Amino acid sequence: MREREPMRLLVVEDDDSIGDPLTAGLGREGFSVVRARTAREALAADPVDLVLLDLGLPDVDGREVCRRLRELGDTPIIVVTARSDEIDRVLLLEIGADDYVVKPFGFRELVARIRAVARRTSRREAESSTSFAVGPLQVDQRRHEVRLGGQLIDLTPKEFDVLALLAAEPGSVFSRQEILERLWDAHWYGPTKTLDVHVASLRKKLSDPRWIRTVRGVGFALEDPTAEPGAGPA
Ligand code: CA
Repeated sequence: MREREPMRLLVVEDDDSIGDPLTAGLGREGFSVVRARTAREALAADPVDLVLLDLGLPDVDGREVCRRLRELGDTPIIVVTARSDEIDRVLLLEIGADDYVVKPFGFRELVARIRAVARRTSRREAESSTSFAVGPLQVDQRRHEVRLGGQLIDLTPKEFDVLALLAAEPGSVFSRQEILERLWDAHWYGPTKTLDVHVASLRKKLSDPRWIRTVRGVGFALEDPTAEPGAGPA
């Protein structure tokens, strides 16, 4: 096995009773940890591989910090919230968080989440150099663009992710569970209604619902409705 560089973490936490043991524990797990106690320090820190961001910071609201970090780059962010905070998951997604944990959290759970987010991100990067064409539909991962018959289609980031995943293997059925696991952390939403909302919106934007076939009880597959009939199995 290849020796790998330690993953660099930025722990943004003003409360030393949490931040100190966390920093030490993550260090023992093999992470290289940088600590910030304020938003100002967090935003000035050197680039890392993942940010662990406490929402309750003394100088700037953590949500604002999350938004600004996201503007600076694609570094994955796991938000740490107090149980008393109103956790609006949709809002956390919108401001660019990749996942969240609620205080008090188990150290093991946190490490598992860090590794899961890191895995998802590196897979996203590996896939991001690719583009696919399915009939008149073109999915350009690098530019994050979708064109249909040459026309640019305006998609939300999640709609793009869903479409790009399905388009990577046209005709293959992706189960709901698989889509949720690959594009969301399952605990974001629990029920899979959110996925249906994205699929419905995608169908509308692609102006033909047949682009995304529902396989009842299983999931979804991308299919080219303009393809010659009879090309597939009868
Ligand atoms: Ca705090």
